[in-house]
Amino acid sequence: MLGHMTIAGKPVAATDWTEVENPARAEVFAKVPSASGAEVDAAVSAAADAASDWAGLSQPERQNLLRACGDALAGHLDDVAELVTQEQGKPLRDARAEVGLSADWFHRTAELSLEPQEYVRDDTAHITAVRVPHGPVAAIAPSNFPIILAVVKIAPALLAGNTVVLKPSPLTPLSGLRMAEMFASVLPSGVLNAVSGGADTGTALVTHPDIRMVSFTGSDTTGRAIARAASSDLRHVVLELGGNDACLILPGTDVSAVAPAVFAAAMRNCGQFCAAVKRVYVPRDQAAQLADALAAEADSVVLGDGLESMTDLGPLVSGDQRAKVSALVAAAVHAGGRVVRGGQAPQRPGYFFTPTIVTDLPPGTALEKEEQFGPVIPVIAYDSVPEAVARANDTRFGLGGSVWGSVEAARAVAAGLECGTVWINTHGDLRYDVPFGGHGQSGVGLEYGYWGLLEYTRVKVLNVAEGPAA
Ligand code: NAD
Repeated sequence: MLGHMTIAGKPVAATDWTEVENPARAEVFAKVPSASGAEVDAAVSAAADAASDWAGLSQPERQNLLRACGDALAGHLDDVAELVTQEQGKPLRDARAEVGLSADWFHRTAELSLEPQEYVRDDTAHITAVRVPHGPVAAIAPSNFPIILAVVKIAPALLAGNTVVLKPSPLTPLSGLRMAEMFASVLPSGVLNAVSGGADTGTALVTHPDIRMVSFTGSDTTGRAIARAASSDLRHVVLELGGNDACLILPGTDVSAVAPAVFAAAMRNCGQFCAAVKRVYVPRDQAAQLADALAAEADSVVLGDGLESMTDLGPLVSGDQRAKVSALVAAAVHAGGRVVRGGQAPQRPGYFFTPTIVTDLPPGTALEKEEQFGPVIPVIAYDSVPEAVARANDTRFGLGGSVWGSVEAARAVAAGLECGTVWINTHGDLRYDVPFGGHGQSGVGLEYGYWGLLEYTRVKVLNVAEGPAA
């Protein structure tokens, strides 16, 4: 299978190709272009050429075109979902849910509007502020949710009147390229372009002089590199980065009752979810019971190829990611941690890792402080709630966190967690119209709904002096 880029509404092949693996088989199943600097240049030029006409459309016209994108995606739900499963590894039903949500995201975004705001209207002045687009936006997407995390950028960027150059992850490029190809018959030429490639292509895009905003989702390391590159001429950046979400279970909570929900929140997308539960803090006298309950959950999971209907959990997205997860578990064991379930790469093709529960971690292991981004739950015993809050906050990340127990007690503890979202008695519930963004090294700016839309605009004030012209 060959993927094609979309530049100025046309499919573009390349001289240089990159292989794409199916992580469930560790086999190459497709090739996509590795965009050169000239191809990035062509894509940005197409976006720049289309910018003024696109921004000049009325809001209802752009809203209608967004709805048409949603319809086109919904019409190709099955084939795009299959690509997502093949390139990313997740179960097909989850891929279908992701593509369905993406189609819906276009429709929901089309319901938003940007109205002028009046600040002063008196006999001295009439002052209003309007929201105007930045211009060509670089949308750089990660590998874990290849379609929805592209769409949460594309839809608001287009609604606000920007044009876009999408760069999907080189690990999972096919679904995003396919979507852009499909939208070429829906959107005016150059409004949405897509180029494939890795860090070099991303750097060429971020540093291109005609790019006015970078909307990035991915690791904090890449996010810092992008912020540095974009600082040369102070272009606007939104960075949605990694997380190391703590789940803090309060004393007296029925840990067996909450274990299934905690397990599901940690294992979603094989742990490759920015806002997955990545650490669990539990009162010392309840730690063994929780670990047993989580281990029982792990025992019931069917690991497999996402195209097989029985599969609950797919592989990790790449061999590198599995090696990273495996090394974090090995280091935790070396430091005194105990693997009560899983902890291995099973003897089968593909980048699988068994659902893993680790206990008895001493403070400060990498498994506690870093983002594992894999199917591993460290269960960390605490002696006092203030100690647990301090350990939960002792990370450079600040994406999400959760507190489990009586709502009143949990609210008080939630106030002390340093992160962008705190859930109580649930974790990872992201919604279209609720702003989402990280504190600390988890990011800059917001996505989703109206607050996310505002990121794709600048404020322009019109100040009219009343009375005769001077
Ligand atoms: P990554 O940082 O490796 O890659 C993300 C994208 O950046 C890819 O398209 C990659 O090719 C591109 N890239 C790499 N180097 C670049 C450079 N120098 N300049 C421009 N682009 C460059 O991330 P990943 O492994 O694909 O994604 C996993 C990470 O994303 C995790 O840390 C996860 O928590 C985070 N994430 C965050 C959110 C959020 O909303 N906060 C959502 C999903 C994933």
